[in-house]
Amino acid sequence: MFVVALLMADVGVADPLSVQSRLSQLTKLSESNPDQAVLAIAEFQTQFPQELSDTDRRDLMLIQLQLALDKGNRQQANDLISKLTQLGHKNSDPVANFMVKNFQARMYGEDGKFGEGLAIIEPILEAVKKGSDRVLQNQIENTAGQLYSSIGNFQIALEHHLSALDALQPLKEGEWQTDLIRAKTLNSIGQMYLSLKDDSMALDYFHKAKDGARQLEAPGLLSSIANNTGFAYADQENWTAAITAYEESLTISKKIGNHNAEAKGLNNLADASLNQEKYPDCVRFAEQSLRIANQYELKNTAAIAETNLGICHIYMGEIEKGIAEDKLGIDFARSANAKPTLEGMLTDLANAYKKTGMYREALKTLEERDQIINELFHADRDRAMIEMKVHFDLSQHQKEIEKLEQKNALQHVEIENKNLQRIVSVFLIATAVMAVVGIFFLYRRVRQSNLRLRAANLKLKDQSTRDPLTGLLNRRAFQNMIDSFNLENDRRMAPDSGLHDVLVLLDIDHFKRINDTYGHPAGDSVLVEIGRRLQKILREKDMLMRWGGEEFLIYLHRVPLERVSDIVRRELVVVGATPIDQPDRHKDAMSVTISAGYILMPLPGAADSKLSWEKALKLVDLALYFAKSSGRNQAIGLESVKGTTEQIDAFLEGNLQAAVDSGVVELQRVKGV
Ligand code: GH3
Ligand code: MG
Ligand code: MG
Repeated sequence: MFVVALLMADVGVADPLSVQSRLSQLTKLSESNPDQAVLAIAEFQTQFPQELSDTDRRDLMLIQLQLALDKGNRQQANDLISKLTQLGHKNSDPVANFMVKNFQARMYGEDGKFGEGLAIIEPILEAVKKGSDRVLQNQIENTAGQLYSSIGNFQIALEHHLSALDALQPLKEGEWQTDLIRAKTLNSIGQMYLSLKDDSMALDYFHKAKDGARQLEAPGLLSSIANNTGFAYADQENWTAAITAYEESLTISKKIGNHNAEAKGLNNLADASLNQEKYPDCVRFAEQSLRIANQYELKNTAAIAETNLGICHIYMGEIEKGIAEDKLGIDFARSANAKPTLEGMLTDLANAYKKTGMYREALKTLEERDQIINELFHADRDRAMIEMKVHFDLSQHQKEIEKLEQKNALQHVEIENKNLQRIVSVFLIATAVMAVVGIFFLYRRVRQSNLRLRAANLKLKDQSTRDPLTGLLNRRAFQNMIDSFNLENDRRMAPDSGLHDVLVLLDIDHFKRINDTYGHPAGDSVLVEIGRRLQKILREKDMLMRWGGEEFLIYLHRVPLERVSDIVRRELVVVGATPIDQPDRHKDAMSVTISAGYILMPLPGAADSKLSWEKALKLVDLALYFAKSSGRNQAIGLESVKGTTEQIDAFLEGNLQAAVDSGVVELQRVKGV
């Protein structure tokens, strides 16, 4: 002992005990007051030049690394990572090596490169599990859980979070660091429930985590928990509670200088403002967030800020600008394969499109989103999910019961009084019964939510809006558009603008002959080619649908009156002017023409409230019949009416012939080639 002390004095090594206790003080300080921690570390380094052992240096660098990441200081983080890597290699120190990987994976996660992050974490999981370092195990499992959760693989994410909590099991409670990471793990589990859209479970976990974090004076964690709590309330559309929680988070992260959390908090406030239709606030928050995220290269957060900003601008009428901004963020999320984030972004974008009358884009966006939802909640996964959730919740309850039992066992020693003992055992039984009841309810809830999911999946499948042969939208898409986009309201605004929507129903002439002459597959290829040609001449905001067997419906959005017949003519000509190749290209091409009926909406001369979609469709069908019966390869249009209310009403009810005879309606004839 004496010799050792002398030797240490010789080489000037600091008292190892005091270094260790200083380091744990610094760890605490880094949680409670990061800025002060940075100063204290600088002071510590000047006090103990070089003589720190490699292990102490490693632990110090780990604290610094966490601080650098919280601050968004990438340069410093990278420097520390390369120093730690060298140290780890030099000493073959598994903790250094694994923690480096852990931080690298988390940084990939921050950049939205979840796959790269997992590629680092996955290979070391087994080795870490075999080791005895429980804290390390917890960290790595948590990181894996967060990465899997980010790509929407909730089942595996749950397994990892469960393992992270399990890893802490043997550690004593009441130890600052252990309690801290336990609270962090509870926060992560809450986040996962949030991803599963189980808000109340999520809130349960956030409250538990908050209780833990408050006692520990860990503001960084409190800020993250507040943020997540805000999310859960936002999911429940409880905006007041959500905003309070976001503001709480923002205040803390500003105070401790956590730029990443600050930018995220601002994004969430932007989202909440948007939902409350406070667009200028939304822009302001999103811009602040984007500025911070760009400054500190927080790419994932920047992408979310970009989409928020874009959506706010779209709602404010700055459509092109907004779409361009939104696209930046969405492209990033798509390339990062961040499905849950992408799902949210696409939902917001679709709503914005709807709001501005860009229905085709809205549909397209919703289709991509539905695809992602399908991938996220794949039916096979659901069953495994229930089992995991039940297992997890069960084991949580068991742990709580065990804890209670331990507590009561202690009391048992101290309490001699037999009566009291009886009360304790009654209490124990009551607790056990309550736990069983609790588990039953939990299981039932999981089952119900799963049934809902399955029903939603079925509905999704059922709601397919594409025709499989031509790839065009189908009748259901049109119905959806009428139902959910409330077109009627928009349409009524048109007269002032001099613009009209036009409904055009097209039918291939003598299509039966084509089938009979060239065969059914050739007929199919005609349908596909006509779809392609029509689509090519339409604008983005027009809608083309396969209406039935060989009928197409076009919905033209806001066309100036004088352009209508030209556009309809182009539709006839693009089909009729060039024969269509047969599937076997060596055979003769097929000459095909089409006929059409069309109607303006609103229809000049008729009260718009009287021209329902149903009536409009009936009238274009009659107009098409006129076109067929008077020679085909032409369109008949209903562009205006005049007459008494009764005459016009009778016409709107479908008495087209009578209306033509009495001059109530004048038919427009548009010839094809
Ligand atoms: P018209 O000019 O009066 O419209 O004559 P048409 O022969 O086109 O009239 P009709 O409506 O009687 O015939 C439509 C034909 O379209 C009958 C049906 O076999 C065919 N058809 C419907 N759907 C498809 C399809 O998906 N593929 C093919 N190849 N043919 C189809
Ligand atoms: Mg037909
Ligand atoms: Mg036909």
